[in-house]
Amino acid sequence: MTFENRNALVTGAAGGIGKATALKLASFGCGIAVCDINEAGLKAVASEIKDKYGVNTVSYTVDVSDENTCRTMAADAEEQLGHIDILVNNAGIYREGYMPFEKQNSDLWNRKIGINIMGTMYLTHALLEPMYSRGWGRIINIASVAGIYGIANMVDYSMTKGAIIAFSAALAREATEKGVTVNAVSPGNIITENGRNNEHLSYIGRSGTPEECADLISFLASDEARYISGVNYPIDGCRRKI
Ligand code: NAP
Repeated sequence: MTFENRNALVTGAAGGIGKATALKLASFGCGIAVCDINEAGLKAVASEIKDKYGVNTVSYTVDVSDENTCRTMAADAEEQLGHIDILVNNAGIYREGYMPFEKQNSDLWNRKIGINIMGTMYLTHALLEPMYSRGWGRIINIASVAGIYGIANMVDYSMTKGAIIAFSAALAREATEKGVTVNAVSPGNIITENGRNNEHLSYIGRSGTPEECADLISFLASDEARYISGVNYPIDGCRRKI
């Protein structure tokens, strides 16, 4: 995969899928801006990227649900790295408030909307015009199988991820002819740092790994994915139970 003279901004990069994606893109020589709300985890990832791959790396401790912070970070990353060509909107929350919809409250909904939807919109909005001006860009939004099928006890989360899939499809219809592809990636059950293997959720018979997601995301971010836009890619080992 080709990433010559490319830089990427990856959100939620202190762990899980975001960390694996930042490391994978760096392994291809891509410059990296990482951001996360988890400062300690973020510092460790930024050091690992520099030590292993020696690419230009900048890091930002931010809450992506804050618009001003997102815009300031996007402008600074453009300045520090020269240009941001690839945006991976990965930061998201899903563990909070696993319960039937009637037991949930609007604080939970607003937090999920703020991070999972608005964070993606703020950063995309901030980086889209610079990408248009250069005639090349890749936007990859991390959704979920929850946004395709819906998951019980995760109604609020499922709604935010359905929104991300629709956002990606619609934006692709504006952006693709300007050289910017927009795609969504919908993981199924992916085993991250504190997770457990759920063999019953896929016909493959195991949870997926962050690295497997990073392989797909990196491909969509590469030059070679030039003819792919407006698509939502499930990566779920052939989902069994929803
Ligand atoms: P993760 O391990 O929890 O990593 C997400 C990272 O985002 C964490 O470091 C988290 O920090 C950070 N974060 C949370 N809120 C943030 C905010 N407001 N601003 C900036 N960073 C923030 O998650 P993951 O499992 O890798 O999931 C990554 C993405 O894939 C999410 O969008 C998720 O919805 C999606 N996804 C995951 C799965 C799965 O099975 N793992 C399945 C489908 C979709 P803290 O740890 O401090 O909260």
